[in-house]
Amino acid sequence: MTISSLYKKITPFVKPYRKMVMATLFLAFIGSFAAQVNALILKYTVDSITDLMVAREPLSKGFYLLGIISIILLSKELIYSVVQFGQKFYGEKLRIFISRDISQTITEKILSYRMEFYTSSENDSGKLQTRIDLGISSLTRLVQNFFIDILPLFANAIVALGLMFYANFYVGLVSLCIIPIYFYISQLQATKLSGFRRRMRIYRETKNNGIISLIESITVIKSFVRESLEAKRHQDIQYEMTENQLATRKTSFMFESIKGFVEQIGVVIIIILTAYFVLNGTMTIGAIMFHIMLFNNVSAPIRQLHRIYDEVNDALIYSEGFFDILESDHQKEVSGSYKPKKITGLLEVKNIDFSYPNGTKALENVNFTIKPNQNTALVGLSGAGKSTIINLLDKFYQPTKGTILLDGIDLKEYDTNFLRQNIGLVLQKNHIFKGTISENILYGNPNATEIEVIEASKKAYIHEQISALPNGYQSEAHLLSGGQQQRIAIARLFLKNPPIIFLDEPTASLDAIATEQIKKSLDAIKKDRTVIIISHSISQIIDASNIIVLDKGKAVEVGTHESLYDLKGTYFKIFTAMANSLNIGKITQTID
Ligand code: ADP
Repeated sequence: MTISSLYKKITPFVKPYRKMVMATLFLAFIGSFAAQVNALILKYTVDSITDLMVAREPLSKGFYLLGIISIILLSKELIYSVVQFGQKFYGEKLRIFISRDISQTITEKILSYRMEFYTSSENDSGKLQTRIDLGISSLTRLVQNFFIDILPLFANAIVALGLMFYANFYVGLVSLCIIPIYFYISQLQATKLSGFRRRMRIYRETKNNGIISLIESITVIKSFVRESLEAKRHQDIQYEMTENQLATRKTSFMFESIKGFVEQIGVVIIIILTAYFVLNGTMTIGAIMFHIMLFNNVSAPIRQLHRIYDEVNDALIYSEGFFDILESDHQKEVSGSYKPKKITGLLEVKNIDFSYPNGTKALENVNFTIKPNQNTALVGLSGAGKSTIINLLDKFYQPTKGTILLDGIDLKEYDTNFLRQNIGLVLQKNHIFKGTISENILYGNPNATEIEVIEASKKAYIHEQISALPNGYQSEAHLLSGGQQQRIAIARLFLKNPPIIFLDEPTASLDAIATEQIKKSLDAIKKDRTVIIISHSISQIIDASNIIVLDKGKAVEVGTHESLYDLKGTYFKIFTAMANSLNIGKITQTID
């Protein structure tokens, strides 16, 4: 990324605040003149007092002069304070507003992207978060520095340099000559430090990750008694980090000293030069202080150059990853426009091939039909492609080949949001958001009334348990057990009330008692809807009116439980394995 492309990309975010930018620029302009007043006044004071002394004027004249000077200086300070306040305030306001807008834009953008974007390995949540955070912070820091630091300082420097040239060409020239030397040293400093900074960042990230992974693996660490090994690993990083930190400081201080020295050379040359001009009568004595103070105004922003250089570099590096995310418009969800009045739920899957973006072939020439208002079970070993089918039916991914028809219309034609509003998804572990039970159920339909929420909970057989909690529906949903959370998710679906429901191993993460408890709510939600269930539970499979058997991405058998059992093929094998694992002989013996 180059500075000009960064400028182009950031302009749309600054544009809405054009007026604020103008105000900040205007204040910087006023401030840059006010900043020179001290130098001018000092020159005037020294010269006037020298004149008074030479002419042996009475003390009262001196007091009069001092009175005027004090008034001017105080008024200038007053104006300067207001200008600085305004400038800092507007600069900060710009930063806050722009940061808010950038963060909102990226969130909206990300939400509009396809599932593919989220499952791609380079976008795992940690990486995505870091890229976004670093992008936002470096961009906003750039905006803030530009308006609060760089702009006023450089405006001051230009006005001060102009004044120096105006007062005396040669003194101006000396100041001007110091600038490129400063530039060169600052650039050297920034280049030297950037390596250290990069390493420092990596250390920090590994250190943070280190603590997180330590906490996550604490049981294993303790059970293998590897505490000292882990502590040693941490120590190594820590020692390297300390060395790097010291080296950074050393380099930094060395460059600061060099810059201070160069600046002093400038000051010395200016003193000698102005003293020479004073002695040969071209300048008054006040000009010495005048030029030194102006030179200080010229060198102040240049002293900050390495920081500015760093920040622009940071912004160039981090904003690249950030804008890559922001500009991934090709990742946007695709949608048709078809929105029928009613969806019946006849699903026809025809010659479907599908490979995930990373190349994994998950489905091959899959064909089957799912009749409306029936329960269909997808059966197969792990990795057979069951969840992939649900991903395609929910339009999370597009088939590589073939078509899927819903009520006779290609799924591609459907408005994606409309389609998903008509599909309910119950997963192995349903997501329970941070918040109350009531908020979690309302996610199914934010406009539902309290009565409707209770109604849905009753249907999901969870109302009584919620009512028994001290805070009822206002209890934290996170604190519920797995089985209860699953029923909250089912209550959420009752509120959504879609005609089609996909259940992807809804009881896999529950124990036998919880599974038994949610059976009733599952049966209730399955009633009068088109249901596809993926399950490893025999009872849920044999309950289905139709079974589709998948093997290595292919639909190998389709039929009822009895017909498939008699076929003695893949289903027969899976079913007998499941039944054997239950140890039915022993169970029946015990029950008898
Ligand atoms: P099942 O639900 O039958 O266990 P899946 O549909 O989850 O099987 O997976 C089918 C195949 O697709 C597997 O080989 C799996 O590794 C692969 N797969 C699943 N999800 C993804 C993904 N997001 N990216 C790449 N490959 C995937």
